[in-house]
Parts: sequence; structure tokens; C-alpha cells
Amino acid sequence: MTVGIVGAGQLGRMVALAGYPLGQRFVFLDPAADACAGQIGPLINAPYDDEAALAELAQRTEVVTFEFENVPSHAVESLARQVLVYPLPDTLEIAQDRLHEKQLFGELGIATASYEAVDSLEELRTAADNLGYPALLKTRRLGYDGKGQSLLRGASDVEAVWNTLGGVPLILEAFVDFERELSLVAARSRDGTMACYPLSENEHRGGILRVSKSCHDVRFQAAGEAIAEAVMRRLDYVGVLAIEFFQSGEELIANEMAPRVHNSGHWTIEGAETSQFENHLRAILGLPLGSTAARGCAAMVNFVGRLPDIATVTALPHVHFHDYGKAPRAGRKVGHATIACTDPKHADEVLTRLVALSDACSRGELE
Ligand code: AMP
Repeated sequence: MTVGIVGAGQLGRMVALAGYPLGQRFVFLDPAADACAGQIGPLINAPYDDEAALAELAQRTEVVTFEFENVPSHAVESLARQVLVYPLPDTLEIAQDRLHEKQLFGELGIATASYEAVDSLEELRTAADNLGYPALLKTRRLGYDGKGQSLLRGASDVEAVWNTLGGVPLILEAFVDFERELSLVAARSRDGTMACYPLSENEHRGGILRVSKSCHDVRFQAAGEAIAEAVMRRLDYVGVLAIEFFQSGEELIANEMAPRVHNSGHWTIEGAETSQFENHLRAILGLPLGSTAARGCAAMVNFVGRLPDIATVTALPHVHFHDYGKAPRAGRKVGHATIACTDPKHADEVLTRLVALSDACSRGELE
């Protein structure tokens, strides 16, 4: 079959790399002419809402999926009239808007930070009075990697923060005093079968994911899976979905969800029986899902800004290097490395080394 992927960044690229051994072909749509998945498959270079490009994508493929959820809903609906589209357009609509996402979580009884929708300075003042400080003001749409959000430490910040973000629909969230950030990556097939990966424990730097570790925590695994199941059933979801949580005490508090393969699941390429990329494809193609069991301990470190020397990374035992084929640029994810092995002590030692290399890259040093 030929699979269409909306978005031709590293996520689309890794989906295709997982799909070639399954005999699948791929066509990408992306507004950037140099989008990195274009190096490994045909790229339709056009805006996401270009009707002629959408028609071409539909015509050249049997099923279309997304590596990027912020595609205009009329474009997704147009595609869905012409070709099989997974996940369903309604799902993307919800996942594009932090308010709709939180309302869905609330409807399903899933805990979230307290929040209020904010559309004016007056509403921001009232919401901040109600929620207290600190609080985070976020754009409802198009926020990623910590962009489109500002912290309010006290009443004196309200006006300045409004001046930075105001003018688009916003949401104010109470600040969650969390112990850890966890995420659950789950797959659901066309026939409703589900498979969940072990939770990932995630660390961010400057709002960008830096480290994800597979986390064998029976306390939270069942709770995370129950949440994913409720969300996926409600959305009649097909494909891979990631839900990000804050762990606070004994509770999992849902932060947001991504209707696609997720950065915190990259360790599954070498660290799980079947990667999130392959399972996303199996799900949308109507194939049986593969086992999500971890192969020992696994962790992933992102390289942001530039890549370290490939020989330095590949010299480390049980380490795998992923170069996305992107030009270096400050704040840009350009690759990652995974450590996957059965010895937790070795994994921790190597992880420390990889984090040091990643830090040096972000500081712009050559390794
Ligand atoms: P987000 O774009 O919602 O994933 O937020 C980016 C990062 O900001 C998260 O990974 C957290 O580290 C932090 N963050 C977001 N929302 C909250 C919150 N309500 N309370 C505390 N930290 C938060």
C-alpha cells in the first residue's frame, strides 16, 4: 500500500523507515521544500491547506496519516472525503486546542490542572484570582516545545504576560507542583485492539524534551493505560496516541495529548519489541499490533541545535544514533541517541555521557 503522511519532518521520516520493511510506500506533504523526510520518499511541497496538493496526496495513496496535528481542520476534512484518514478528523480538532483537550479529559473523569479559558485582560485577571499563583498562560492552539506560554508569578505579571500572548484564544492553568513528567504511548488498531508501551519518564530543558527513559513503574502503568483506553475508545481512535502526565503524589494529572507518534516514544525503536512507528502503521493499515514489551532498559537523548560527532556516539556500547538529516539550528531537534540494554547500571552510565554530549551540542560546542 502507499501511505500518505501529512508533515515530512523526523516523525514522518521514522514512520516511513519503519514501514519500508513491511513493504509499504510513502508520499509526504509538507510546506518546507527541504523537509527531512523528503530525503527518503516523494514529497509534495505545498501548504497543508492547498486543495490541489491534498487531492494529489489522496490520489497517490490508500491511507493518510499525520506527523503533525496542527493541520487546518478543513484540510483534514477535505482529505477524509477523498481517502481513508487515521486518526479521524474529529480527533485532530480536539488535540489542536488545549481547552477542548482538557474538556475531553474532564468529561472522562481524568484529572487535569485547574484551568479557565481566557479571551480578554479582564478574564485573565478573574481567572488568575480564581486559580491563584503561580499559573501558566498558554495559547490554546499552535503551542509546542514550551512556545506560546508564559508564567504568572503574581498579580503584577498579569498585564505584561497579557501583552506578550493576548489577542488569540488562551487558557490559564494552575501550576502543578509535580514530581515527575511521564507519558504513555499507546496504539489502537482499526478493530479496537489496544497495546500500551511502558510509561516514559521525561525531562525537558527550556521547554524542549531532552531525555526519555522507559519506566517500569507498576504504580502508574495501570492508571496511565486506563486513561489511554478511555480516551481512545471515546475518540474511536486508530493509530498511536501519546498522553503527557504530571505525577503528583499518587496521582497522574493529564497535561496534553498528541494524536501521533511522539518524541517520548523514540526509545521504542531499539528498546521495544515493536516500535511506536511500526505499530502506528500496523494500526492504520488494519494489521495486528506488535508486542509493546520493552527489551530491558532503554532511554533516549535528544540532540538539539546540532549533532555530536557520530563516531563518539557510536563508540558507546549498546547505543544507536539517529540523524534526522536536518540543518543545524538553535533550538531545533536534529537527532537523538538511544541506549538499550539489560544492565541498568550500564544504561545509567551511558545516559550520563549522552546527556553531556547533548548539552555540549546545545551550547554550540563541537565534540
Ligand atoms: P506543554 O506545552 O503543555 O507540554 O508544556 C511544556 C512544559 O511546561 C511541560 O512539559 C511542563 O514541564 C511545563 N508545564 C506545562 N503546564 C504546566 C502546569 N500546569 N504546571 C506545571 N508545569 C507545567
